[in-house]
Amino acid sequence: LSRFLCSSSPEESKSRPSMLRHLTTKLKATGPITVAEYMREVLTNPVTGYYVRNNMLGPDGDFITSPEISQIFGELLGVWIISEWMGAGRPKQLQLVELGPGKGSLAGDVLRVLSQLRSVLGEASVSLHLVEVSPALSLLQAQNLTRSCSQEADSEDEPVYRRGETAAGLPVSWYRRLDDVPAGFSIFVAHEFFDALPIHKFQRTQKGWREVMVDIDPDKPDKLRFVVAPSPTLASSTLVQADERRDHVEVCAEGGVIVQQLSKRITEEGGAALIADYGHDGTKTDTFRGFKGHQLHDVLSSPGSADLTADVDFSYLRRMAGGGVACLGPVSQRTFLKNMGIDTRMQVLLRSCVDPTTRKQLISSYDMLTNPIKMGERFHFFSLLHHSRLAKPKKTEGLKLDKKKSPAPLPVAGFTELSIS
Ligand code: SAH
Repeated sequence: LSRFLCSSSPEESKSRPSMLRHLTTKLKATGPITVAEYMREVLTNPVTGYYVRNNMLGPDGDFITSPEISQIFGELLGVWIISEWMGAGRPKQLQLVELGPGKGSLAGDVLRVLSQLRSVLGEASVSLHLVEVSPALSLLQAQNLTRSCSQEADSEDEPVYRRGETAAGLPVSWYRRLDDVPAGFSIFVAHEFFDALPIHKFQRTQKGWREVMVDIDPDKPDKLRFVVAPSPTLASSTLVQADERRDHVEVCAEGGVIVQQLSKRITEEGGAALIADYGHDGTKTDTFRGFKGHQLHDVLSSPGSADLTADVDFSYLRRMAGGGVACLGPVSQRTFLKNMGIDTRMQVLLRSCVDPTTRKQLISSYDMLTNPIKMGERFHFFSLLHHSRLAKPKKTEGLKLDKKKSPAPLPVAGFTELSIS
């Protein structure tokens, strides 16, 4: 996650040791665990997981993200969603699915744009579907999106664990897993979601690829350390590419599975996915890091007190998406937002804003999002699309079409510069 500011609130540090105790007990019983298992436990353990506590995002938390920096970010993503819905031929039903919605700010900004452009959407029925593991964050999302008009499911086994309705009357449903979201034409959005998914780490050794594991430090029983597995693990034999040239690689198998699911849904039901995160194209090695109070934090010390993250490998996601969908990007956040018209939107906002403090704030958040040395070049946008979206229009035999009216595929907003004519 983008860890730029904020400090942990003092009350948060009280219940810390329990995650370490939980992990050392586990390690004593089972021996070393994979980095993926460590990351999964630390971030999403239902009792002590980092994301299960709710105040990591924003001024009182550990980090801040683009949707929290400026409403323009979510608004432009709202425009992207409408543009893809139009590009798909304006289907009657539009499921908006967000993976890892945090505080729900992005979804809120998207919904505002959708309601402003209601006339464009016509009769289409819109619903919001949120995939969120953290019950605490789901409550926060419900407060922000449904004015607390939401209800928890009676049983823990229900695929929809919470339901609500927005002020405009749109249904909102919460799920723990993407698998539980119903089929249907959907636009998926994942902002700073994939970087939070567990990664496996592998080291090239003289004996071949070996998995990096987490173990108890034999000299300090309350400290953890990395070890290299002496023999191959299931993951080290299956997840490293045969032609891999790096000496150290990180593979987010769970992210790969989610992209496969997205790809299958888009192929079968139509729609698109927009994935925004920091990452690389299969070139980086060790990117696993922790963030606490917007400072770098040792990934193995006081687990559960800091966010853990790894850069997203877009080349891996592209490979896992397979041939069933078209992939666009990654393009830098700066390029994407500029293509989406952030400069015009800024001018409109500045023109109608006289208060000098608000103007200053608008300009500084614009700078944060687009400046190459801030978030502009570190974050990337990547998209999965139904093949029909990029297909050349078929020539209609025997029909004399007016050239100007012949259907041309709409450009994909954000990835190509939009020319407004
Ligand atoms: N998209 C938001 C929040 C990013 S934080 C923003 O940009 O501000 C990561 C989000 O993903 C949190 O909401 C976290 O609870 C959720 N999350 C993390 N791991 C998850 C998983 N395995 N399944 C579903 N949600 C997950």
